Amino acid sequence: MGRPRLFSDAERKAKRKECSAASYAKHKEEILSKQAARYARDPGKVQTRNAAWRAENSEQYKASRKEWESRNRKNINARKQAHRKKDPSRSNFYHAQWRASHPEIVAAALKKHRAKNAVEIRRKRAIYLKVNRAKINVIAKRWRDANPDKQRQYRQNSKKAHPGGASARENKRRAIKKQAPISGLDVIQAWVESWRSKRKAVCFWCQAVVPSKGCHADHIVPLSKGGAHAIENLCISCAPCNGSKNARLPEEWNARIAAPVLL
Ligand SMILES: [Zn+2]
Repeated sequence: MGRPRLFSDAERKAKRKECSAASYAKHKEEILSKQAARYARDPGKVQTRNAAWRAENSEQYKASRKEWESRNRKNINARKQAHRKKDPSRSNFYHAQWRASHPEIVAAALKKHRAKNAVEIRRKRAIYLKVNRAKINVIAKRWRDANPDKQRQYRQNSKKAHPGGASARENKRRAIKKQAPISGLDVIQAWVESWRSKRKAVCFWCQAVVPSKGCHADHIVPLSKGGAHAIENLCISCAPCNGSKNARLPEEWNARIAAPVLL
């Protein structure tokens, strides 16, 4: 007969845990310095043993690591950030690898980012284009010369996608060339797209209702006579009117048409 037991198994286990925690707290410095010394003597040995323990107790290891990480989230992030700042090449390399193997996630994130920052992106892009215009032109021309088929296809697609876009761009280009004052390009673009998207349009000069396809955005006072590339100076013109008006001032042109337009 053994001695009667004072504590149950669970109680003894809890007691032991309590004791060892108290002892650890009491001798923490000593334990840590011993650990450090052991590691310094033979890092490989400690590492191998630790790895073996982690492999054998992977669930426990994962749980305790997760718990530790959630307690030290702030420090971990700060340290990671500092590390990346110190040597970006390594983290860039891993990020590039990750991006390459998760194209869908990257595309979705990019789309979200672009939608959220559309205004800012457009602003920065405009600045970039302005600053690097000469360089971009050279590169673009080289590409166009090397890929004439793609270039043609691209132009056709773009024309289809933006019915007013091509002529709006063309008008802008001419306005810049003639150093005419330019204002409200967004408004002009929207206006051109709106009437181009309809089947019929009314010519400002002869009042004919004609297919909008053949119409032009016409400068009432020609750019070459000091007219501005602005919505106030634009009208829809049918092809014949646009062709014979040429660079005439509205007064000169009015004198030649059957029903002069009030300006
Ligand atoms: Zn007309």
